[in-house]
Amino acid sequence: MQNLTDIAYMKSVLSRHGFTFSKALGQNFLVNPTVCPKMAEYCGASENCGVIEIGPGAGVLTRELSKVANKVVAIELDKRLLPVLDETLSGCDNVKIINGDAMKLDLHKLIEEEFNGGDVVICANLPYYITSPVIMRILEEKLPIKSLTVMVQKEAAERICAEPGTRDVGAVSIAVRYYAEPEMLFKVSAGSFVPPPKVDSEVIKLDILAEPPIKPKDEKQFFRLVKSAFAQRRKTLSNSLSSGLGVSKSDIAQALESCGLKPTARAEELSMQDFCKLADYLL
Ligand code: SAM
Repeated sequence: MQNLTDIAYMKSVLSRHGFTFSKALGQNFLVNPTVCPKMAEYCGASENCGVIEIGPGAGVLTRELSKVANKVVAIELDKRLLPVLDETLSGCDNVKIINGDAMKLDLHKLIEEEFNGGDVVICANLPYYITSPVIMRILEEKLPIKSLTVMVQKEAAERICAEPGTRDVGAVSIAVRYYAEPEMLFKVSAGSFVPPPKVDSEVIKLDILAEPPIKPKDEKQFFRLVKSAFAQRRKTLSNSLSSGLGVSKSDIAQALESCGLKPTARAEELSMQDFCKLADYLL
């Protein structure tokens, strides 16, 4: 079997199939030989655990996943890659490629039909243009998966994994911690891809929690409050909540005081529990 991280080989396969990279689809393919085996190891796939991959590209990560998992289902949006994958994954009998959009496919149904009630993890080098939406979709839909191990741009990784109360925290960090325990695994330099992106990447792992760490009275209202709190980062919490939720400033001031928060507090200073108390009080 030819080595897919051999740039000359990868380029020759792609050009034989008339393939050209699409920037719009976030097509930066991995050619660093150390990255995919590490991702396959860290994601927890095993002979007792299947994997869903989003965006197999030319199949470099797919091949590594197929060595450790009992089954790999890879979702690829770009039809032009199907004949490429036919060639590069020939002999990988436990791999199934689905041509579709990971943002639109019914993933509950896919898991039910393809994995027969067994354990499932997700592992992917995500196209950067859908990083947060695809992660949030997977978490919010409460898919029956153990974890998500994904490569994302460094800045996105920092936001997703940021701890409440720190500078990088945003609505996505709070939402992620409601469903999962995030962990930064390792850095991947821009030179590890063809074509190289403008920024470095990071592999992160989100271990799905059995229960959220907080129990807001109303989950939807909790997320509405978190989004409003971070919508205007330069404003105080009092101003952003008042305009975002349409609640008077005096009501917000009263809510902040009864939740033990300063009137000048900013969203990035709050803990998960603070957001929960405020949402329960206000909404
Ligand atoms: N896994 C390969 C690798 O590591 O070399 C390719 C990763 S590349 C960053 C992202 C891949 O996702 C591309 O193959 C692209 O065509 C595919 N893709 C883009 N948008 C997608 C979507 N909405 N659903 C599924 N795949 C998508």
